[in-house]
Amino acid sequence: MRISRSLVTALVAFSVGAALVAQRGQGTPIKAGEECPPGMTEVRPGSCQAPTMPPPSIVDYRPRSTLVTAAHPVPRAKYPAIDFHGHPQGRLTSAASLSDMVSELDQLNVGLMVAADNLSGDRLRQAVSTIAGSPQKNRVRVLAGIDFRDVGPGWADKAVPQLEADLKAGAVGVGEISKSLGLSVMKRDGSRLKIDDPDLDPVWEACARLNLPVFIHTADPQQFFAPIDNHNERWLELALFPGRRYPSDRFPSFEELMTERDHVFARHPRTKFVAAHMGWHANDLPRLGRMFDAMPNLSAELGAVLYDIGRQPRAAHDFFVKYQDRILFGKDAYEPSEYPYYWRVFETRDDYFDYYRDYHAFWKLYGIDLPDPVLKKVYYANALKLAPGLPRDAWPQ
Ligand SMILES: [Zn+2]
Repeated sequence: MRISRSLVTALVAFSVGAALVAQRGQGTPIKAGEECPPGMTEVRPGSCQAPTMPPPSIVDYRPRSTLVTAAHPVPRAKYPAIDFHGHPQGRLTSAASLSDMVSELDQLNVGLMVAADNLSGDRLRQAVSTIAGSPQKNRVRVLAGIDFRDVGPGWADKAVPQLEADLKAGAVGVGEISKSLGLSVMKRDGSRLKIDDPDLDPVWEACARLNLPVFIHTADPQQFFAPIDNHNERWLELALFPGRRYPSDRFPSFEELMTERDHVFARHPRTKFVAAHMGWHANDLPRLGRMFDAMPNLSAELGAVLYDIGRQPRAAHDFFVKYQDRILFGKDAYEPSEYPYYWRVFETRDDYFDYYRDYHAFWKLYGIDLPDPVLKKVYYANALKLAPGLPRDAWPQ
């Protein structure tokens, strides 16, 4: 191999220059394993330097990608989707607002929304009758809520009949059981209501008997329970929204909540559970895979964790293929403009595109390019299998 003389000269000049910089003290040395002092970054192994201009804050720093690559936006899902994690909220109170929502869902090819707004009793009956009386009666179904206030001896004697009444009124499952179970709900005796409290067991067993899937959200992203320091991936979000912080002196730890939740899944193998937000393990797919392997009664819904799916396109692709019978599409907060980000991640091989919320994730997303049979299962077939009360017609074979 011939190396040009000018390249050698340049390399020598460069290393001499770097050594001189270090000698002149412009680089601040650190030992192996140490971090640079505040305001500096590691410019060469073991040598830190401060920018020569005042750095912008992370709030203002919005670099524009210069990457030129094919982009394939997907405004409509390739197959009709069931949004298993819907929060239509006020939109189920009148035929007009329901119809407005359904025309938005039409644009996106969302065939059915499962409302996970914890309705029960009169409010559930009202929502069901609005839906049943509208021309869009096959486009929304409702989950029943469980009232976890005042749990103590005898609580289930009222909760189970209420659930049976809600099923009779048209509920197709239970949920969304909110993160407040475990984080903040208290028992009658003033202690924290643990997710695996035995007083709740009769309700989980009733869900098995009544064939109602249980849609449950436990805890919040792992980073919300971690120290809010320069190493926390969600620093900006935690700084913006103080209510998302779970300091250890006031809340159980992330692992404590996961352990309680997994006890419930394991103790009720006949009950079908759907862990919302992929159980907050989309950043640790091997862990979710071990849970799927150990607990055949468990499925997972993928709302609001697209930032973790789309940052690991190869691992996520393989995971979705391997566990194609266990994952359900869901969106969570209702915002029509955000669904196409999901379609693009699932259906394309696009590189390095923006997510819809900067503060969730400062990184970019990639398409995971799911095969059609997997898309169909994730978009609608798994939900249909899990919840017998969903409308059966109008889905592709
Ligand atoms: Zn939700």
